[in-house]
Amino acid sequence: MPRTFHIETYGCQMNVLDSDVVGGILERAGYAPASDPLSADVVLLNTCAVRGGAETRVLNRLEAIHGESRKRRGSEALLGLMGCVAQAQGEELVARAPFLDLVVGTDRYSELPRLLEEALHRPGALVDTTPDPEMTYEGEPRVEPRGVTGFVSVARGCDMSCTFCIVPRTRGPERSRRPDDVIREVRRLAGRGVCEVTLLGQKVNAYRNGDVRFAELLRSVAQGGGVDRIRFTSPHPLWVSDDLIRTMKETPQVCPGLHLPLQSGSESVLKRMKRGYSPSRFLNSVADLRASMPEIGLTTDIIVGFPGETDADHEATLEMLREIRFDSAFMFAYSPRPGTAAAEMSDTVSAEAAQARLREVIDTQEKIGRQRNRAQIGRGSTVLIEGPSKKRPDEMFGRTPENRSVVLPGDGLEAGSVVDVRIVDAYAHTLRAEPLAHPAPTSIGDAPC
Ligand code: SF4
Repeated sequence: MPRTFHIETYGCQMNVLDSDVVGGILERAGYAPASDPLSADVVLLNTCAVRGGAETRVLNRLEAIHGESRKRRGSEALLGLMGCVAQAQGEELVARAPFLDLVVGTDRYSELPRLLEEALHRPGALVDTTPDPEMTYEGEPRVEPRGVTGFVSVARGCDMSCTFCIVPRTRGPERSRRPDDVIREVRRLAGRGVCEVTLLGQKVNAYRNGDVRFAELLRSVAQGGGVDRIRFTSPHPLWVSDDLIRTMKETPQVCPGLHLPLQSGSESVLKRMKRGYSPSRFLNSVADLRASMPEIGLTTDIIVGFPGETDADHEATLEMLREIRFDSAFMFAYSPRPGTAAAEMSDTVSAEAAQARLREVIDTQEKIGRQRNRAQIGRGSTVLIEGPSKKRPDEMFGRTPENRSVVLPGDGLEAGSVVDVRIVDAYAHTLRAEPLAHPAPTSIGDAPC
């Protein structure tokens, strides 16, 4: 019987992709995937360190799995942590969780089969968080995407030093993959039925390999990748160049949808965050994007209650939201991450004030999002069907090129269909559509996209 593994993934798309890479590495080593953590021989939690309290949550989760699996199996599963919490906390986690067998850092996944063997045969936990600034997992296998959409990493790490962010410490310096390797991976996914790829990087549009910058990479992937749709995340506002905007506009495969993290609308808060742009520069980028692509879908991230944020700063953020009118946003109250510069700032905002500001930001943005969704009613669009709707399995779920979520009647539609639709209703975060005609299959791979 092969040994089995189960991975639970928290956090961003990069973690989702890393879990697929780890799955591929373990399968190559003879492990078989298990859908139930309580029956698996190895359980790994792929962790996210962006928000506070993450380590407590994952350790509680791991402890629950530890107790339950021992009861059910009569033997102990090997329990490990990977991802950003593992990289940032290392040995400290073992002190807090004696049941932990393995802590593995973000650059050490290729070593996992050996590390698991070692962890099995030694008392106490094994911790390996050795950084490798060159690591891109080039050539490593991965669990293939299960649907018609897939992620491809183009760069890892980050050279910025945003004062709230732990990522440069957990993911190391920036390194970009070779364009040929990226295109080859996209083609391989296309051959397996993937119609839409999302290119990933911590600040993906800062990609640079030799003379090749991100806009050129996008054009090459569009030309040689064989997929219908290309998205990318997360772009950094400082690298929204004219060339990138022109490429998005002129390359039919590149979707007119962008998640552009603003974080704050206040000039002084952005300076304290060391984001590198001002509100007016951000506004100019949005104006340039909308001048080229009037229907572009724009979403963002907002942090409220950053140290030193005043009522006036908060009002500036609300004003930016009203002016830009994003389609949606991820909105959070600031939580200090140990090891970051902002965690040392003393002029903290009280939890009550931060929560009140968060409520106001959410209310403002949700109202705008609903209005923007309602403005879609009666319009036509093209939806790539991703699969059955989670809430109503008799309906199908898909996305417009602008990355708006759409549900529509399921009759005769299958994942990978590209359907012309008319929007007939709008909810807070989703649109309802009716197909205009039956989808016409195209010829990429075996899939109907
Ligand atoms: S750009 Fe800033 S927020 Fe984004 S990963 Fe780098 S340091 Fe973190």
